[in-house]
Amino acid sequence: MSEKKIHNTLIIGSGPAGYTAAVYAARANMEPILYTGLEPGGQLMITTDVENYPGYPDGVKGPEMMDDFRKQAERFGTKVHYDTVVKVDFTGPVHKAWTEGGEEIHAHSIIISTGASAKWLGLESEKRLQNKGVSACAVCDGFFFKDMKVAVVGGGDTAAEEAQYLAKLCPEVHLLVRRDEMRASKIMQNRVLNTKNIRIHWHTEAEEILGEDEVEGVRVVNNQTGEKSTIDIKGFFVAIGHKPNTDIFKDWLEMDETGYILTEGKSTKTNIEGVYASGDAQDKIYRQAVTAAGTGCMAALDAERFLTEKGII
Ligand code: NDP
Repeated sequence: MSEKKIHNTLIIGSGPAGYTAAVYAARANMEPILYTGLEPGGQLMITTDVENYPGYPDGVKGPEMMDDFRKQAERFGTKVHYDTVVKVDFTGPVHKAWTEGGEEIHAHSIIISTGASAKWLGLESEKRLQNKGVSACAVCDGFFFKDMKVAVVGGGDTAAEEAQYLAKLCPEVHLLVRRDEMRASKIMQNRVLNTKNIRIHWHTEAEEILGEDEVEGVRVVNNQTGEKSTIDIKGFFVAIGHKPNTDIFKDWLEMDETGYILTEGKSTKTNIEGVYASGDAQDKIYRQAVTAAGTGCMAALDAERFLTEKGII
């Protein structure tokens, strides 16, 4: 019986971090294999135009950009598998992973780039109008609502930051907060409170986003009085937090209390030798395609150094 092949590098995830790691790893002769996960291409597959990724002077559609990322990774020999890693064993020294499709993979090094998912309110209208005025990222989509009225839902640092960002572009920003206080840090709250064109609606929840093919308004309800009203807006930004897609690693890797993987200093090293984390799975602050790509590159370089030191490549 032949011995099971041990791959040099397994990359888990197919957003900007995973594909960038793949480009670097493949060009360094590491012969990486990449498993795309449930949403090949990651969060950018649900955005329309990307205008802030350097190198695309006229902007690019999110799905088109991710197609370019994949092609570039494949051009240098990355093997892309459309399957999802559902379980890992990092007992080592050879790391193991199992996929939904029933494969067992052995690898000397693993690069995690499983990303994060935006949380949504769960309204039917929110789903229907996604990319038609409903967004979970002001930095990505805010510009499309320049000089228009918008609403932001949430009371944390993300919502405060998104409201601030939008207030520089839009004449009116309605911040919908479900309690009588915000969870955001004091300094962020103060900034929001001191910005003239941000109006905070306390005890307010979105009931339905209005409009057929584009957002025309939002019907809100005051959860204390039950009073309903409509706010005219063109953009509706949901900023109620993200969840890193790291559940399968929780028995192995050190994480913060919300599940973001902790990395060592300015590297992508995790607490397990040969396992690296990149992209939104380890970043709750920046969360941009370009920063994810940057950490994907770092993870490939860290893995390459590790494999070289061990005499594996
Ligand atoms: P948080 O979990 O901190 O806040 C989520 C907010 O959304 C809360 O106000 C919550 O309300 C509200 N919310 C949750 N579910 C709903 C719902 N169904 N309807 C209405 N409102 C809802 O998430 P953030 O993304 O804001 O922040 C995550 C982490 O990242 C934090 O640690 C934050 O400090 C950090 N961060 C730091 C930044 C920075 O330093 N520049 C920028 C962005 C994030 P309630 O309070 O009632 O639960």
